[in-house]
Amino acid sequence: EDVLKLNQIHKIYEGKAPFQALNNISLNVASGEFIGIMGPSGAGKTTLLNLIATLERPTSGNVIINDQQLDQLNKEQLSIFRRRMLGFVFQDFVLLDTLTLEENIMMPLVLEKEDPLIIKRKVKKIAEKLGIASHLNKRPFEVSGGQKQRTGIARAIIHNPDLLLADEPTGNLDSKTSQAVLEEMLRVNEEENMTMLMVTHDPIAASYCERVIFIKDGELFNEIYKGNNRKLF
Ligand code: ADP
Ligand code: ADP
Repeated sequence: EDVLKLNQIHKIYEGKAPFQALNNISLNVASGEFIGIMGPSGAGKTTLLNLIATLERPTSGNVIINDQQLDQLNKEQLSIFRRRMLGFVFQDFVLLDTLTLEENIMMPLVLEKEDPLIIKRKVKKIAEKLGIASHLNKRPFEVSGGQKQRTGIARAIIHNPDLLLADEPTGNLDSKTSQAVLEEMLRVNEEENMTMLMVTHDPIAASYCERVIFIKDGELFNEIYKGNNRKLF
């Protein structure tokens, strides 16, 4: 069962000098897969991620997430779809500095008007899993980069999304912290069977993926399948 299907995606940025950012990308991501996307700067990675994130629409071709073709949803339906079905992890964490870690993590459930007691319990459980339970009352500027990204991951998965999208999640972390954060992502992927798609420049990050696809000049040009050989080293 595929969580994500990209069918012959083309993306042209219109304007004075129209630019084709993606050329005929097709890709299927199976439920539970942890897939990486690599490629040089300007290759079209962000464009691809934004299409999947429902933040941009393709010029032609379609994006299907959990059997829902995105171009059949209107703006309002898309924002609900995004909030419920997707989780986002960012390079620069995107935490609100005026809120505690706990308040940051609970945000997706607050938006869904979930019961406060259930929210409290879920945040605690996830924070324990991710090793940040003792920092929940702190604000983002009071914790380390690794703790910030663990908070970002907790917020991204607390509503149990069908697809987690990560944009350079280790881009602002040193290599040791990167590995710790990636171990957490891998654990969530395996334990929760959560489908993950990660854009990265970092070969260490890519090594955690089951499958890595490479794009260049808007085209798919290679793919490596490692399956379960991730933890051989
Ligand atoms: P990557 O994330 O791999 O660096 P991007 O998807 O950001 O690549 O960009 C792919 C190409 O599309 C680049 O050449 C970029 O300049 C161009 N591009 C990105 N966004 C726009 C836009 N809004 N308008 C015009 N061109 C764009
Ligand atoms: P504009 O806001 O300039 O009209 P578009 O026509 O490209 O921009 O998109 C209109 C709206 O369609 C977007 O604001 C967004 O909510 C939604 N949309 C974004 N991505 C997709 C997609 N992949 N398929 C269908 N609709 C999308």
